[in-house]
Amino acid sequence: MSQKEYGFETLQIRAGYDPKEHNYAATVPIYQTTAFNFGDTERLEKIYSLKEGGFYYTRISNPTSDVLEKRIAALEGGTAAVAVASGMAAITYSLLNVAEGGGEIAAVNTLYSGSFNLFNHILPQFGIKVNWIDDPYDLNSFRKAITPNTRAIFAESIGNPLINVLDIEGVAKIAHENDIPLIIDNTFPTPHLLNPIKYGADIVVHSATKALGGHGTAIGGIIVESGKFNWENGKFPHFTAPDYSAKNESLYELVPTSVFTTRIRLRYLSDFGAAISPFNSFLILQGIETLSVRINEEVKTTEKIVKYLSAHPKVSWVNYPGVEGNRNNKLAEKYLPNGYGTIFTFGFKGNQHDINKFINSLELFSFLANIGDARSLLVQPCVATHGSLSVENRNKAGAFPEAIRLSIGLEKAEDLIADLDQAFSKVN
Ligand code: PLP
Repeated sequence: MSQKEYGFETLQIRAGYDPKEHNYAATVPIYQTTAFNFGDTERLEKIYSLKEGGFYYTRISNPTSDVLEKRIAALEGGTAAVAVASGMAAITYSLLNVAEGGGEIAAVNTLYSGSFNLFNHILPQFGIKVNWIDDPYDLNSFRKAITPNTRAIFAESIGNPLINVLDIEGVAKIAHENDIPLIIDNTFPTPHLLNPIKYGADIVVHSATKALGGHGTAIGGIIVESGKFNWENGKFPHFTAPDYSAKNESLYELVPTSVFTTRIRLRYLSDFGAAISPFNSFLILQGIETLSVRINEEVKTTEKIVKYLSAHPKVSWVNYPGVEGNRNNKLAEKYLPNGYGTIFTFGFKGNQHDINKFINSLELFSFLANIGDARSLLVQPCVATHGSLSVENRNKAGAFPEAIRLSIGLEKAEDLIADLDQAFSKVN
């Protein structure tokens, strides 16, 4: 299938899968097998030296996960992808891949708490220093965080939970002026609403656990590469040097447009081992088939709920691009022309006792720490997802004490509004 000719809606159902290669099975089969026969010794030799593609062990690759990888690469406009066991594994492996051996990372400080904790507490223990970018809206603060030793800029396309939209084009330019890649966590908008590679990002990571899977059933992560970054620029000698994982040949020479994900597959996935299960790949593929339809519906419902909340006396602010005066409006117009997403925060006018009363009175919204489900979800980030951060860092990330985060699903908008309404009415 020549993917370039098809629209997103077609690719989300068809890309990366040819039934002829899978016994004409109509949907992608689950290859629930640990290993694959080599066939003969000559084939084994070709597979191990990357002279021929082929599966041999599911920790490294698997035909079901392979379709998932090809499908997301097509949806993001990348050359290749590698699926891993979780969004956190995708982020960790991407950063280790560029900064291993004592490199530095420049990272925006408005991040999902797991990423923040990885950068703040764990990577430094592995010799990788993180320089924080203090203001995600100020391109100069990106420049200031880069040193000669920096090996990547990391940011979320839409921050969790500050809902700040990144100027991807501006940041990519700064990264490339410094010969380093821009790595974007594109979990919030999904490839349906935004393709960071189109604006210059080099690597895109996802928590496939969220809207890609879309039904709250499987943990997974994915890393996509643009195939455009110049890994030969002198800052990444480990990409061009002879590699034990490829019979001492240079990975860059073997697979120049997929060297980033191939290196992760052959080293980190192979030897750290956070492999996605074929069953989870299957579930995520099922979710992706309806991604655009779900997101379009959810965006419409989100807009109705944002309107309702904006007029509610117990709400002090609503943080969603498109709301009058929102700081992200211009950036959102440019980067999110098909909708501003399905996740936003609002400020609850009241104390913690009132917030607890409101949350405990909800009948329809699920009270849990996840996003991108077909069910609508709600959480107070400062006590849940971002509870492990210092108050200062929580506030920087947008996890303000009064902030409630909603992730809107596929229920009827009027039912969700009625649920919020009855819960507000229980608070004096
Ligand atoms: N990135 C973002 C923006 C997230 O919100 C999350 C989880 O909430 C992750 C990454 C981590 O993903 P996972 O739970 O699949 O490891």
